[in-house]
Amino acid sequence: MERISTIQRTKEIVSEYQFKFSKSLGQNFLIDGNVLNNIIEGAQISETDAVIEIGPGIGSLTQYLAERAKKVVAVEIDKTLLPILEKTLSGCNNVKVVNDDILKVDVHKLIDTHFPNERPKVVANLPYYVTTPIIMKFLEEKAPVSSLVVMIQKEVAERMQAAPGTKNYGALSIAVQYYCDVKILFKVPPSVFIPQPKVESTVIKLDVKEAPRVQVKDESLFFSIVRDAFGKRRKTLLNALSTGALKLDKQMIRETLNILHINENIRGEALNIEQFAKITNCIVEKTK
Ligand code: SAM
Repeated sequence: MERISTIQRTKEIVSEYQFKFSKSLGQNFLIDGNVLNNIIEGAQISETDAVIEIGPGIGSLTQYLAERAKKVVAVEIDKTLLPILEKTLSGCNNVKVVNDDILKVDVHKLIDTHFPNERPKVVANLPYYVTTPIIMKFLEEKAPVSSLVVMIQKEVAERMQAAPGTKNYGALSIAVQYYCDVKILFKVPPSVFIPQPKVESTVIKLDVKEAPRVQVKDESLFFSIVRDAFGKRRKTLLNALSTGALKLDKQMIRETLNILHINENIRGEALNIEQFAKITNCIVEKTK
């Protein structure tokens, strides 16, 4: 089948349909077969796989996915791409395009409808303006997906994978690592897109764990503590938690840190996810 993702074919399609790229929808289309192959390899797509693609664009990645997977459901927000996709993917009878905003989609319903009793893989070249909300939606809503292999802005990928004590470590690192094993697969230069984005990209693999990495007695408190701890990076944890949104009692935090043998002067950025979980569980016990 003719490749959609060559420079020439992409330009032909854009001009035939007088398609106008929307910057606000993060429309940067891939024009490099090697990168597309590497995404498919990274996601380990095989003929038994159910795949959800977010933002198929003109179908460049969708075509590769359709050739390897059992079935692909591609959710595209931009109505003007629908007639294009109908044409470019006309040879792929295992693809279903859904016209919707992925942020508004009920993902459990989407999966129940198209992939009952399966755990699809999410594969996407994500629109940069909503990378984090899209990923967090799948994780926080506990969508039954097995992995997400997504192209995102390099800096965001580095924050997701960061370890304690490093400059990129923050609330996003903990939020993603709570749900997933994180692996950076490869970097992608701006030159493989039309139009070229101003940022560098990275393909990241998030393997969704069967159960969260740590057990917390109150998930919402856990994430609030993490947010407060990083909200005021320069403050000690003791000060950040007592003056942040939670306004926890200073003496109680001091006692909690003592019980857990954590130095009172520690900053949030030095704590690992297990320590945040222990602090949460201790506070839950103390405030029962
Ligand atoms: N997959 C294509 C490729 O790799 O060439 C296009 C990727 S482009 C970076 C992002 C795509 O996501 C665009 O087609 C855009 O219209 C679509 N998109 C943007 N926001 C979306 C949203 N909230 N829900 C679904 N699709 C969205």
